[in-house]
Amino acid sequence: MAGTTNPYVTFRNSEIHGKGGFAKTHIPEGTRIIEYVGEKITKAETDRRTEIVYERHEKNPNEEGAVYIFTLNQRYDIDGDVEYNKARLLNHSCDPNCETDIIQGKIWIIATRDIEKGEEVVYNYGFDYDSYEDHPCRCGSDRCVGFILDEDEWPRLKRKQKREAEKKLKKAADLIKAKARKAKRDAAKKAPTKKTKKKRSLARA
Ligand SMILES: [Zn+2]
Repeated sequence: MAGTTNPYVTFRNSEIHGKGGFAKTHIPEGTRIIEYVGEKITKAETDRRTEIVYERHEKNPNEEGAVYIFTLNQRYDIDGDVEYNKARLLNHSCDPNCETDIIQGKIWIIATRDIEKGEEVVYNYGFDYDSYEDHPCRCGSDRCVGFILDEDEWPRLKRKQKREAEKKLKKAADLIKAKARKAKRDAAKKAPTKKTKKKRSLARA
């Protein structure tokens, strides 16, 4: 596997993140571009490896918390964190031109539309909702939802963001009301001073 070059993609620096894959030729829709390869591991091993990466990341946030484990089937996953898996370099995008599909036990990155020569080859990583906040997205597309997240979960994310925005608005409105109440109280405090003055002048008269 090592040393073989892919007929469709070449890898170089990407504006999205690190290195990315770019079409070196016109790629027609439906093309199986590259196979996502790696070590076949059990679900228990996936849990163990994920835990290690997260713990390391927790202790040192500068260290990358990336996990390259791909669901293969109900029993096994593919850990693509190996040098020979060039597909691990492909970036996520909220506006992808590829998707992944498992065909006869192999994970393929497949073009969902025609891709022009020079375009970055991207797909949605399909991450879970549970930990989306740990994976901010910088894909820069107009459709970007701000996080690396499975598109099926976008409505859920948008509902949550709407709730949070409403909460923020309410907080701002409450603050304005509180300020207005305080201003009223302050005005009321100042008022007696005038009365005192009046009383004094009455007393004098
Ligand atoms: Zn994005």
